[in-house]
Amino acid sequence: MQKLTNRAVKIDRSPMTFGERIYLPGLAKGLGITLGHIFKKTATTRYPEQKRPFSPVFRGLHVLNRDENGAERCTACGLCALACPAEAITMEAAERKPGEEHLYREEKYAAKYEINMLRCIFCGFCEDACPKDAVYLSETVMPANYTRASFIYKKEDLLIPEPKNNDNK
Ligand code: SF4
Ligand code: SF4
Repeated sequence: MQKLTNRAVKIDRSPMTFGERIYLPGLAKGLGITLGHIFKKTATTRYPEQKRPFSPVFRGLHVLNRDENGAERCTACGLCALACPAEAITMEAAERKPGEEHLYREEKYAAKYEINMLRCIFCGFCEDACPKDAVYLSETVMPANYTRASFIYKKEDLLIPEPKNNDNK
C-alpha cells in the first residue's frame, strides 16, 4: 500500500513484559517529567495578584477627558458614535447655560454619554475621530461583571474626576 506520509508508526502488539505489567517504569517516567516541570519557569500568570505586561499600544477602558481648567471637553458632536463600527456609543446633547462655562468647555455638551462595553471591540476609532481630545482609551483593563447593565458605562463612570484645586468655580 502506498504511504501517504512518513509519520506512520507500526503498532507493537507483542505481549507486555513483566516491567510493563507492573507499570512502575512508566510511573517513574511520568513523575520524572512532572518533576522536570517544577523547576521550569511557569507560563501561568497569577492574576489578579500578578499582572502581565501589556503592549505599549494596548487599548483599555474609555475615559472622558477634561481640559486644563477641569471643564468637560466633549461637545456632543457625535463623531465618535459615527466612527464606531460597533454602534456602541450613544449620547444626548444639551446647550450650556450662562454661568456653566467652568463645567463645559464648549457651548454644547453631552448631557448623556454612554458606551456599551459588551459591543465595544476596543478599536480606538472613537478616540481617533474626536476633534476635541475628549475621549481616549486608557490602560485600564475592562473589569468583569455579572450583569449586562453593569457593562453600560455612563458619563459619570467615564469622566475623569474633577481636579481638587479647580479654582474657576
Ligand atoms: S473603541 Fe471602537 S468599538 Fe469601542 S466605542 Fe470606540 S469606536 Fe466603538
Ligand atoms: S467624545 Fe469627542 S467625538 Fe465624541 S461626541 Fe464628544 S467631542 Fe464629539
